[in-house]
Amino acid sequence: MSQQLPEQIDPFRLARQRRVITGELPLHRMKRLEPLVSDASGGVANVALEFGTDDMGVKFVHGRVTAALGMTCQRCLQPILQNVDAQFSLGLVTTRREADLLPPHYDPLLVEQDHIPLVDVVEDELLLALPIVAMHEEGACSAAHGAHEVVPEDMKQKSPFAILEQLKPRAGSNK
Ligand SMILES: [Zn+2]
Repeated sequence: MSQQLPEQIDPFRLARQRRVITGELPLHRMKRLEPLVSDASGGVANVALEFGTDDMGVKFVHGRVTAALGMTCQRCLQPILQNVDAQFSLGLVTTRREADLLPPHYDPLLVEQDHIPLVDVVEDELLLALPIVAMHEEGACSAAHGAHEVVPEDMKQKSPFAILEQLKPRAGSNK
């Protein structure tokens, strides 16, 4: 799985040729993903894409992208290696109107030029497959089990006025 992947791909041509391409892409080239992971410098995404034309004449790419992303557990705030496994079927289209006509088991891949950057396709799928909140498995997390929640610091501190309110006897309470 260490084949060289092309920088740019012509998806329609690859579909006509029924090509399969596999290889690795370094995560640090994914500028939208980078701020979401703790360290993208050494990581790679494993990429496998199969291009073709289905019985209806729709050109497609079936793909799978896997990566182990360094993230932060939102329960204990310790590092977590989040395994992401994105599997997808994209229908190749050149206009949004064509996208609307795709069979529902395809997501559209809009190809407006002859060539598109492969990294954009891979990054899109990783972003879609990313968990909204990264967390260790129950039991593997160093935070206390149960309903422990991470409360932001400023929510814990009551305002001084709220504390004064508690000290002040309420009007009429001593009657
Ligand atoms: Zn944790």
